[in-house]
Amino acid sequence: MSASSSAVSSSTPVFGLYVHVPFCRTRCVYCAFYSTTCGTELQQKYVEAVRLEMARRQDELPGVAQTVYLGGGTPSVLEASALEQLFASFHRHFSLSPDAEITIEANPDDVDAAFCRRLNALGVNRVSLGVQSLNNARLRFLRRRHDAAGAVEAVGLLKEYGIDNISIDLIFGLPGQSLEEWQHDVHTALSLPVTHLSAYSLMVEEGTPLQRMVELGEVADTDEAVYEAMMTHLADAAEMAGFEHYEISNYARQGFRSRHNSSYWQGTPYLGLGPAAHSYDGLNLRRANTADLHAYLAATDGGVPHTTERLTEAELQDEMVMTALRCREGIDLGRLGERFGSDAANEIRRLAQPHIDCGLPTWRLDGRLALTRRGIMLSDRVMADLMIG
Ligand code: SF4
Repeated sequence: MSASSSAVSSSTPVFGLYVHVPFCRTRCVYCAFYSTTCGTELQQKYVEAVRLEMARRQDELPGVAQTVYLGGGTPSVLEASALEQLFASFHRHFSLSPDAEITIEANPDDVDAAFCRRLNALGVNRVSLGVQSLNNARLRFLRRRHDAAGAVEAVGLLKEYGIDNISIDLIFGLPGQSLEEWQHDVHTALSLPVTHLSAYSLMVEEGTPLQRMVELGEVADTDEAVYEAMMTHLADAAEMAGFEHYEISNYARQGFRSRHNSSYWQGTPYLGLGPAAHSYDGLNLRRANTADLHAYLAATDGGVPHTTERLTEAELQDEMVMTALRCREGIDLGRLGERFGSDAANEIRRLAQPHIDCGLPTWRLDGRLALTRRGIMLSDRVMADLMIG
């Protein structure tokens, strides 16, 4: 397949392209994503392996890539030449839509003038910055490399270099974090020239240093009422600042929803390259690449070790319900009925009714069933009751 950026007709199939970059300079205390702190000596081998994987899988999904997402790990630790080679291969092996959203995740500490110039030259038009907190004590606790001032400077520099689509991640419910401190984080974040904000509560993932700290009683749980107050404050402040709460954990200015992540929620196919990357054919087949860099590098013909899973109809229905409920637009039960049968849609109506009676989901004017603000706080409970698989 040759690369091009020709016009895309509405009948052309589209897909998302994800590349997992498994390198970090240091590991954060809470992180369960696959990455290693191996030095730059492995970067070149990694890039060669990803290029082989691209060559081998270039025809797996038909159509054009409407989004490209470099995630990790920390893609911003890649050397200039490594990034250039990856982008050259995208263009060689895939057709990119002329208006493709091209995102790179970055650590604020890696953002300098040279990095910004590199993004401009490569056509990157969106940066997702791992800010996490704007309080230095919390950043140290999380073992982040950057400090709060560095995060603010990074946003300013990206903007100066013409990257107008900037997303930042924040974490709330950190040990010792007060509501006032969170309000300060939110206020500072919303005063920055960013278009998108992702906010997650701190999760204690298995196998992380944070889990050990919790087991040893070194960190205390955040009170449920404080969590709720934090979520409420964020939702209010973001709305006041002109952001739309378009997905449980995501806020965007008008026209700046993450197209890449939205395509996951809408069931668009995606091709995941690199160790630990996942792919989906848009029908029922999922694939997970090995989460082992050395096994990945050993696949010298691009035939990466992986597992596949074929989803059952019940699993596909659950997936549609769960992803739709996470989004502002909610579930279109008409569409669900067309895909899985009217009995399935009626069963969802029946299962949802007790929660509707409690005001957790509600019927929108367009007939869709969507979570209310209160329902978002209790979304796990609502979703669990609507699952059939
Ligand atoms: S920088 Fe990101 S991927 Fe790396 S350890 Fe920290 S949270 Fe995980």
